[in-house]
Amino acid sequence: MDERVPRVGIMGGSFNPIHHGHLFAAQEALSRFHLDRIIFVPAYRNPFKTTEEWEHEMASGFHRFAMVELATSTNPRFFVSRFELDRKMDSYALETVKHFHDEFGEQAQLYFITGTDAVLTMPEWRGIEEFHKYCEVIAVSRPTHIPDYEQFIARMHSLGLKVYFLTIPALEISSSDIRDRLRRGRPIRYLTPTAVAIYIEKYGIYLNGSG
Ligand code: ATP
Ligand code: MG
Repeated sequence: MDERVPRVGIMGGSFNPIHHGHLFAAQEALSRFHLDRIIFVPAYRNPFKTTEEWEHEMASGFHRFAMVELATSTNPRFFVSRFELDRKMDSYALETVKHFHDEFGEQAQLYFITGTDAVLTMPEWRGIEEFHKYCEVIAVSRPTHIPDYEQFIARMHSLGLKVYFLTIPALEISSSDIRDRLRRGRPIRYLTPTAVAIYIEKYGIYLNGSG
């Protein structure tokens, strides 16, 4: 029997669409923290996005899930979960980490992976006081400046949260830029895996707002 404690990374996001920034950040967390797997969890609805953003810019859960599947299919340690999509309600990370805590068992070591832009909003997340019971946090730095760094760290510590900062080479790729390029007929090839770029083209996603 394998006695080793499972080490699992959980990466939430809209993945609208998934791109090489997400994939590289996940790969870096996997290797630096010796994780066994990373689970990508597309959000059903992000409570931080406005209704307008949601209605006009968000591809369906069906398409976003399919694109994450395509993007991760070449990595045996990358998985996708339908947990948040199937709940069909605003996505709250606490529910998600609890779910994986139950699935992988008490001793599993879970890491919640997020970009530094998102980590800064963590103190405002619903149920954040409980978060530390289930996981630690890996914040991957994209080119975002953290104002009031000391104050932020103190706030996270007061919530009992352990945060590791992982610096990755600047990858300024974002889903919003990809959507903007598609609307303007500019290339997205090499910003996201080829299979995803072809899928977007095949279904005409993001041409006039959402897909
Ligand atoms: P949008 O532009 O629509 O906000 P996004 O590119 O930020 O999309 P999300 O799905 O919102 O993508 O991001 C999911 C997670 O991945 C977040 O924690 C975010 O900070 C992180 N992330 C996104 N892009 C990068 C990147 N280029 N490098 C590192 N982390 C990233
Ligand atoms: Mg974002």
